[in-house]
Amino acid sequence: MANPKTRRAQSIITPDRDRRFVTEDNPFEAMMSRFDDAARRLNLEPGLYKVLRTPEKQIIVAVPVMRDSGEIEVYTGIRVLHNTSRGPAKGDIRFDMAVTLDEVKALAAWMTWKCAVVNLPFGGGKGGVICDPTSMSVAELERLTRRYTAELMETLGPDSDVPAPDVNTNERVMAWIMDTYSMRVGHTVTAVVTGKPVEMGGSLGRRDATGRGCLVTTTQALAHLKIPVAKATVAVQGFGNVGSTAARLMAAEGMNVVAVSDKKGGIHNPKGLDIPAVLEWIKEHRYLEGFPGAAVISNEALLCLECDVLVPAALENVITSKNAAAVKARIICEGANGPTTARADAILDKKGIFVIPDILANAGGVTVSYFEWVQDRGGYFWDEPTVIERLEKIMVNAFGEVLAMAQTHDVSMRIGAYMLAIERVAAVHRMRGMYA
Ligand code: GLU
Repeated sequence: MANPKTRRAQSIITPDRDRRFVTEDNPFEAMMSRFDDAARRLNLEPGLYKVLRTPEKQIIVAVPVMRDSGEIEVYTGIRVLHNTSRGPAKGDIRFDMAVTLDEVKALAAWMTWKCAVVNLPFGGGKGGVICDPTSMSVAELERLTRRYTAELMETLGPDSDVPAPDVNTNERVMAWIMDTYSMRVGHTVTAVVTGKPVEMGGSLGRRDATGRGCLVTTTQALAHLKIPVAKATVAVQGFGNVGSTAARLMAAEGMNVVAVSDKKGGIHNPKGLDIPAVLEWIKEHRYLEGFPGAAVISNEALLCLECDVLVPAALENVITSKNAAAVKARIICEGANGPTTARADAILDKKGIFVIPDILANAGGVTVSYFEWVQDRGGYFWDEPTVIERLEKIMVNAFGEVLAMAQTHDVSMRIGAYMLAIERVAAVHRMRGMYA
């Protein structure tokens, strides 16, 4: 039986008060403190505040998988639907040992705000399986993906919950999800996931979309700060899909990419790296390590390099209260989700660093996911120049709207983006009213 004292103590601690005790690197805290700030400035009604801070659904499932050895392992799968007032929950799935419910909750809420910043008719969701995909065979990963999908049949669907790839998930994983879902409902439903192979309903331009969004928003920020594109120096942390694409596209645009890194460390050349050569090197050697004609640089040092643009495109919490004061970039373009902690925000603001927040900077991915969903549902596919042109239009527009919000309210771009997003979601809640 529960101890009555404990029970009472629990009942009076509101989640808000709990948050005082969470650490700086808790992603839910990172999301909520910005949300609180923006909600206060918007004078959000207390009722709506409560609705928007609470995820609609949190699902935890057991995912039993037969390993190739014949042994059975049981993994934990999570899916959180944060808010679906503007449309189906949209948001990816990651396979990682570091997945926690708090992280998935934060990432799901970020998807709600991100979709609203770029004004897509989607809500936000996120999923994860706690596992180490690097220690699993392709067959094991397939069984894991299919069982996780089967366990989520209740929420998945093109009108309700539409996953996409993220950390350690890719087009192949999306193909398995699409197939499992389709087999269960008895017909092919391409629009249930995005980020699929192009041959089976994927969109041209999806693979590059997040990195391209980083390029577009960075170009806008450079223009705003009157820094010529051709002279801009760039450092990119993370050389996965987002970081490598951002580096490639920025270099192609004439920017000078001076440093890039992956999880083992980075390479640096103040005169500029030959990015096509780096990409060739990666194809053969998998890691940047050993790339000729560049000095070795640690991930920590890369974040503090003297440069115009820093693109953190790896994981959460890399810019914190510990290193923010040492960051020297003039612009930070957040390719990753949550790379900067809330405490670091204040330090960066004081230094006058122009931060393009994640929910704007990396929204190119979900924007082309939206295009993919539209194409699947219409059964009519666009050529790549059309995808790129429409993506650019949405990103340029969103950048302008966030900047205007930030200037009007004299807040950072991050708080401006949250205000824009929260206001859009809140407006729909007000119009729809309360279902009771
Ligand atoms: N992983 C991407 C993100 O965090 C894409 C989400 C999607 O396409 O649904 O925005």
